[in-house]
Amino acid sequence: MSRTSGLRGAPASMGHSAPLVPPLQPSVVYTTDGPDTLDRIYEGGADGFSYSREGHPNAQSLARRIADLEGAAHGLVTGSGMSATAVALLGVLKAGDHIVAGNQLYGRTLRLLTENLPALGITSTQADPTDADAMARAIGPETRAILVEVVSNPTIRVADMEAIAALAGDRGLCLIVDNTFTTPRAYRPLAAGADIVIHSVTKLLAGHSDALLGFVGTGDAALAERIDTGAQTWGLTASPFDCWLAERGLLTFEVRYDRGAATAAALADALAAHGAVERVLYPGRPDHPDAARARTLFGPAQGNMVSFDLGGDRGRAQAFVTAARDIAFAPTLGDVATTLSHAASSSHRGLSVEGRAALGIGEGFFRVSVGLEDGETLIDAFINALNAL
Ligand SMILES: *Cc1c(COP(=O)(O)O)cnc(C)c1O
Repeated sequence: MSRTSGLRGAPASMGHSAPLVPPLQPSVVYTTDGPDTLDRIYEGGADGFSYSREGHPNAQSLARRIADLEGAAHGLVTGSGMSATAVALLGVLKAGDHIVAGNQLYGRTLRLLTENLPALGITSTQADPTDADAMARAIGPETRAILVEVVSNPTIRVADMEAIAALAGDRGLCLIVDNTFTTPRAYRPLAAGADIVIHSVTKLLAGHSDALLGFVGTGDAALAERIDTGAQTWGLTASPFDCWLAERGLLTFEVRYDRGAATAAALADALAAHGAVERVLYPGRPDHPDAARARTLFGPAQGNMVSFDLGGDRGRAQAFVTAARDIAFAPTLGDVATTLSHAASSSHRGLSVEGRAALGIGEGFFRVSVGLEDGETLIDAFINALNAL
């Protein structure tokens, strides 16, 4: 009978070669040559890892790449976009503090603010980020921070970022920007005066709908340390496999973004020209309510997100989705393939009909995240589905 020793031993050597692709490192723990080295790793005197909740090579390498894109001196990858938002807010706010937040944030972010943070003694007020005076009026004596997304979902309104950054600066408030929709290809919050940038890396940065991750970046070393320690202690850090997938996706991010944006601009024009469509929202179109601001903030990169309104009821919405069977009906964005989502049955299902109507979201309102398909083929698929209505 053969026996194995069960000893792990040292990993196999690769001799005088090294892998081109960053290796996936699933190891949860790292060995060292003894307590002195471990001390130096913990105290920052030596490079290295000890336990993967506290850091691992795949997270470090991904965080460095996203931090470079955002111009952030310090970056941290977390287990999801929501954990990035949570750990950033927990790093900035304490019991008794108040935060002013955009009124059309990602739905779970609004739930975090209204359902979870109050239990920790942290309160919030929502205001319209396209109106900096409304944001200013929401500030009170206990306000410590402002949280906004640059572009609202799914109505694609553009926040008055210049005025909000000036307001945060004047009042000494920490400005936190969720840059998931805009990405550093269109907008770099830290360069524009924000203190913290957060991402759902799950979306455009990773780009393939197969990794769930978040990112927090800042130029402030003390704040970064607080947020990083918080993520380790609350256990919000990221899995090596997801980081490995996201790093691979990130290598093509800019090419994907530009391609999606070019097709999105053409799709927006084609939708607007079709009689079955009541309204199209794309910041690169001159009829968008924030077109001038979008041009100033984003330059030529107007993004891959297009929304449109067919009017009518649920039956008309369902008929369109059925006719558009080659386009995935899925409540996400930033995938290599185009996805179609319907706010009334997904992101905004928790609102009343009147609440949705106040935002301009009826049953016929759709959002498209434009992917990498051949542009003409994709536009034909939409037009054929509209013709079938
Ligand atoms: C998806 C999303 C989030 C949450 O990210 P997850 O990775 O799903 O946790 C946060 N903000 C925005 C704008 C998003 O689109």
